[in-house]
Amino acid sequence: MGLNSPEEVGGNPLPTAVSVGCSEPLIGANIAFSTYPGLTRGVAHVLYAYGDDWLREHVAQRLFAGEWTGTMGLTEPQAGSAVGDAKTLAEPHGERYRIRGTKIFISGGEQDITENIAHLVLARTPDAPAGVKGLSLFIVPKVRINGDGSLGERNDVVCAGIEEKMGMHGSATCVMSFGDHDACEAIRVGKEHDGIRMMFMLMNEARIGTGLHGLSAAATCYGIALEYAKERIQGVAIADMRNPEAPRVPIIAHPDVRRMLFSMKAKTEGMRALLYKAADCAEWAERAADEEARTRHGHLLEILTPIVKAYCSDVGFDVAVTAVQTMGGAGYVHESGLEQYVRDVKAASIYEGTNGIQALDLIGRKMTREHGRYFITFMDEVEKSLAASAAHGVVGPLANRVQEEQGRVREVAGALAMAGMSGDLQTSALMATPFLTMMGNLSVGWLLCEQAVIAADALDALAAQAGAKTPEARAVLTESSSEAGFYANKLHTAEFFVRNVMVQNLGLARECTDGYRGILQAPI
Ligand SMILES: Cc1cc2nc3c(=O)[nH]c(=O)nc-3n(C[C@H](O)[C@H](O)[C@H](O)COP(=O)(O)OP(=O)(O)OC[C@H]3O[C@@H](n4cnc5c(N)ncnc54)[C@H](O)[C@@H]3O)c2cc1C
Repeated sequence: MGLNSPEEVGGNPLPTAVSVGCSEPLIGANIAFSTYPGLTRGVAHVLYAYGDDWLREHVAQRLFAGEWTGTMGLTEPQAGSAVGDAKTLAEPHGERYRIRGTKIFISGGEQDITENIAHLVLARTPDAPAGVKGLSLFIVPKVRINGDGSLGERNDVVCAGIEEKMGMHGSATCVMSFGDHDACEAIRVGKEHDGIRMMFMLMNEARIGTGLHGLSAAATCYGIALEYAKERIQGVAIADMRNPEAPRVPIIAHPDVRRMLFSMKAKTEGMRALLYKAADCAEWAERAADEEARTRHGHLLEILTPIVKAYCSDVGFDVAVTAVQTMGGAGYVHESGLEQYVRDVKAASIYEGTNGIQALDLIGRKMTREHGRYFITFMDEVEKSLAASAAHGVVGPLANRVQEEQGRVREVAGALAMAGMSGDLQTSALMATPFLTMMGNLSVGWLLCEQAVIAADALDALAAQAGAKTPEARAVLTESSSEAGFYANKLHTAEFFVRNVMVQNLGLARECTDGYRGILQAPI
């Protein structure tokens, strides 16, 4: 729980990227259950950043310690994607508030694992302005907390129902009813009407966390499918297809199975690189010594957040489905464990703001901010890195392909800007999702090229050490040394992604700039 948290609350302030790395196998073991610690940590971070001393000492500390859990209360029956339509009401009552309303889909809304739950709830004070600007933030404890931090009586908040979902069964998704008896005590966090800004801290963290759900599912499913593909014997090698006596081979020998395996591997490693990059940006946006670096990383993080959330949750689902396909019938049966990942990870494209909303956030908010400055920062970063990779003897040609794709992304961004400036918002909205996918593919291509440069240099160093001067000697080296094999594989993975996956951008660009717009008026 305390990983990547402040020392004074018992945490271990390791870099965010380390915390992402440590979390991946835990989440991969059970995405659903991981929502309990994930949300708890997020709520603790908000209270630590914006809460007063009392909230820090008596609530945040217990969350960081894992003694209590936290939840995130935004969604209401009429306020899903439109968070600003929330109606839950909070009225001043002495030093605290009384809160009334219903929140739905609240992950971990009720459980009997910990003695208390801190619900972080968005609500409207009397006479608050309409929309998100009228929302304030509150802590609603399941069990009331006395002034000295001891627990009081049960608060007037109950779980009125549990959603029967297609997956995520290890995470109770609850309908929460606040104040049925007009006695639901709430403690305000920060200033009135400043709730959405503070909640965004949790939402942004949770969006990166949701991308991590996609990666973790993909990594686990790929691992299961790879092991199976090495063991399952079926058919003969394609070169022996006319020979009924030919030896039977493991399915990993079949080109189409290798295609599926590499597709899973390249996407998984690409998402991992993307998540580490975003985590690193989050780190330096706060901790860099000079302001220019903090600002630059902050801008990069703003652009990367909706991409990480939407791209990784979609690709994570895609990898989970490919793993099922790779294993054939064995993948489809319950015993493989894959079907749970397929069901669980599907939710990641819905919660924390649907992927459609992320795409609109990218084109409508992030890319237009400060006259496009955030987007320019992102494109400069990609351009600089690709120029360095393009100068590399081995990786150069591959980096050139990614540079071409960056040009394509730039063209589509230009078309988006034109549509926006001419007031044609419907056309821009139609382009949002394919454009976000293009940005995700570009980001992964860029980062895998960086990895390829490191891998190529490391492979050269190993070859020099072993005196492997000819291509044949290098091939023997990559066969015999697992380290050399690892680096050689990295090169193949980058190459496969750029040539076989990233080519999607050709079609997506066409869809964005030349696609059929008639659907906007077509009868349906
Ligand atoms: C397993 C699970 C756990 C959850 N946990 C929590 C939680 O802990 N706390 C919490 O507060 N909420 C939680 N949610 C709720 C989740 O955040 C919402 O489901 C999500 O924000 C979408 O809202 P909605 O379901 O009302 O869909 P809607 O808003 O009705 O959207 C339906 C469809 O319309 C699209 N759409 C809606 N508005 C627009 C628009 N303006 N432009 C383009 N497309 C649009 C959406 O992209 C979507 O495809 C959880 C949901 C699930 C499934």
